[in-house]
Amino acid sequence: MSHTIFAPATAPGRAGVAVVRISGPQALAALAAVSGRADWQPRRMEFVRFVDPATGEAVDRGLGVAFPGPASFTGEDVAELHVHGASAVLARLTAALGAMPGLRWAEPGEFTRRAFDNGKMDLTAAEGLADLIAAETESQRRQALRQMDGALAARLEGLRTRAIAALAFVEAVIDFPDEELPDDTLARGVGLIRDLRAEVAALADTARLGARVRRGAAVAVVGAPNAGKSSLVNRLAGWEVAIVSPEAGTTRDRVSVEMALGGQAFTVTDTAGLRAAAGAVEAEGIRRAERAVAEADVRIAVFAADLWPAADDPTWRWVDRDTLVVVNKSDLGRADAPAPSGMPEPVRVSAATGAGMDDLIAALRRKLDAASADAAGEGAPLTRERHRALAEEALAALDRALAAPGLELQAEDLRLAARALGRMTGRIDVEDVLDRIFSEFCIGK
Ligand code: GDP
Repeated sequence: MSHTIFAPATAPGRAGVAVVRISGPQALAALAAVSGRADWQPRRMEFVRFVDPATGEAVDRGLGVAFPGPASFTGEDVAELHVHGASAVLARLTAALGAMPGLRWAEPGEFTRRAFDNGKMDLTAAEGLADLIAAETESQRRQALRQMDGALAARLEGLRTRAIAALAFVEAVIDFPDEELPDDTLARGVGLIRDLRAEVAALADTARLGARVRRGAAVAVVGAPNAGKSSLVNRLAGWEVAIVSPEAGTTRDRVSVEMALGGQAFTVTDTAGLRAAAGAVEAEGIRRAERAVAEADVRIAVFAADLWPAADDPTWRWVDRDTLVVVNKSDLGRADAPAPSGMPEPVRVSAATGAGMDDLIAALRRKLDAASADAAGEGAPLTRERHRALAEEALAALDRALAAPGLELQAEDLRLAARALGRMTGRIDVEDVLDRIFSEFCIGK
């Protein structure tokens, strides 16, 4: 028998209201026990006095509501107790619930897990919900809400159905070789796979954009040793830019710092830090630094004013028209020299005095806006590494299907492609869709 679970749905701490959620076969009985009344109308809030059923002592007064399954968040019977957000109230109420037979505390994510198990949401919606709860910026909130609402699931389910439709074509040829199949059946199958491959490739390409919004844009800071990269990142962190990382304070010895600016999250990677962190395995450190720079959404190239324009500085190798060029240590003078021809005009700052930091923030904000403009246009991107890996898997299977030397192998690869797409949402049953498609075929009835 499945347990009835309960947990506060609201964050701990002093608050006007806290909500305790109960889900499972005993949820409505538990609501009746702590409210002293049994006649609960579905989805109708009632003002009641909550009591500890063991002693009859009043715990608090507040609102109760019953959501009989399956029309509930988890699909099971659910009850909510809206009480005052005091730790003493919650402690007493949850102790009373825990003392009831069949009730126990919920594990992390267990309410959502049950919603998934009961078909109330697919995996991407559950991930969207987790992202929405964690959203700190406007773009994160928008993307998470779309995913929770099923935009990604619909896109994936469309692709999966098409993979299975292609599979149905191939299986038709295998299973009914003697039947009167139209001559172009095979060619149509290949056409379906080709079109599908193009769309799965387009989907895989969205992973970067989705991850950029979800985790924030990646900003890499490059420059020669002692150009002042670490000082600059520290300055940024202490300026108008909020540090999002839990152990905020200083970037010293930290490779990456999460920040937010103008409603957008971003992560600054100080490549000097990467190298220092690598220590003895310097070569690996340099490789990682180079990858961070190559994959960055925004690059900041830092030059020291006393050497500027530093014609022989290898940092120039990373500079293109989109790079944010910074001349640091403007307090030392010599920062005014123009950039070499063809190179972007620099922002001149001093990490030591703070001069020019406003200009740098404004320039960085423009770069971040440009980097996220393309992400905003994408309605239902892949947002997690899990999605990206499965999309690549589906893509590889489709490539194999196109190159397959025989129909059996082609069918198997299509099946694998459909599975990989289905694993993103948690729908992996191929047979039900196959049945549906075959029933439309009218081959051999
Ligand atoms: P990194 O190796 O590029 O990370 O450079 P650091 O941030 O460690 O700075 C190298 C040296 O330059 C340190 O001694 C800093 O104090 C100094 N420095 C950094 N920014 C400035 C600045 O704006 N003006 C001056 N005068 N010195 C700076």
